[in-house]
Amino acid sequence: MPLFRPKEYFRVATVGEAVSLLKRFGGAAAILAGGTDLLVAKPPHVEYIVDISRLPLNYIKKGARGVRIGALATLNDIAASPELREEPYDVIARSTWDMGTPLTKNFATIGGNICNAAPSADMPPSLIALDAEARIIGPRGKRRVFLEDFFIGPKKSVLKRGELLAEIFVPRAPANTKAVFLKKGRTSEDIAQVNVAVRLTVDDGLCKAARIVLGAVAPTPIRAKAAERMLEGKGLKEISQIMVDVARKAAEETKPISDVRAPAEYRRSVAEVLTKRALLNLMERFGGA
Ligand SMILES: Cc1cc2nc3c(=O)[nH]c(=O)nc-3n(C[C@H](O)[C@H](O)[C@H](O)COP(=O)(O)OP(=O)(O)OC[C@H]3O[C@@H](n4cnc5c(N)ncnc54)[C@H](O)[C@@H]3O)c2cc1C
Repeated sequence: MPLFRPKEYFRVATVGEAVSLLKRFGGAAAILAGGTDLLVAKPPHVEYIVDISRLPLNYIKKGARGVRIGALATLNDIAASPELREEPYDVIARSTWDMGTPLTKNFATIGGNICNAAPSADMPPSLIALDAEARIIGPRGKRRVFLEDFFIGPKKSVLKRGELLAEIFVPRAPANTKAVFLKKGRTSEDIAQVNVAVRLTVDDGLCKAARIVLGAVAPTPIRAKAAERMLEGKGLKEISQIMVDVARKAAEETKPISDVRAPAEYRRSVAEVLTKRALLNLMERFGGA
């Protein structure tokens, strides 16, 4: 195991301090939140650690317009949050259930899970399915990006030099919105071979909006848009009849690779199975299956 020996460690007290250090050291600096990815990866180019763990970004607040989750909310905070018990926000809490160990989840943050930009990360699919946005702070002030557009490749995001993720905003969902998250890993503690979040908004018996978001089957989390289109405008009965075709279409939209965790073909067929199960779960909850 290589040693990780950065030159300098800064524990910052303000977001401004973090931004100015990140700007000054550029690619030689890394943010440390919970450290459960960074301290395992030990990236050799990192010379400066900017520890943001004491910033006041550990909160989960629900308001009239939606839910705001600070980047430092830990996975255990999210799992236990009373603000995330109600549908469809419960899917965010649900996404943490099969992640790592209880100990890891005391440190691991939602911001770290997102910014690490692993294609297999478990938090992004549910958040993308709920149209969440990333609220970013950097040297030029604040900006917002839909989480769907945040990822640009494995371990790559739209964050620019000096920027950090401050908050995730999940807009208030329309009435009759339900979502489900499913994951398949080699063990319950392992990262995903495939994960999926499916969200449906139903009005007057018709599907008004559908999201199918798959992880670990492409360089970034992806929306299976052709499969989503098959659902929109359809009645619950019809959806029950076409679920199998929708799941097959979603799997066709994936671009998996083979690696130590699973071959590409296995990932594609699991994507189909999980999408089908997720739709079945939602149909049952909507009373349409
Ligand atoms: C035993 C074990 C099991 C795990 N199981 C899972 C699993 O099942 N599913 C899963 O998805 N992950 C899993 N992980 C990975 C990891 O725990 C999560 O990704 C975690 O949420 C990372 O958060 P962190 O706060 O520890 O991030 P850190 O390690 O502190 O940071 C991760 C990366 O994000 C950057 N970063 C962190 N916060 C910010 C921010 N606010 N703004 C900008 N950049 C930031 C850091 O510089 C670093 O590059 C596991 C890890 C371990 C050790």
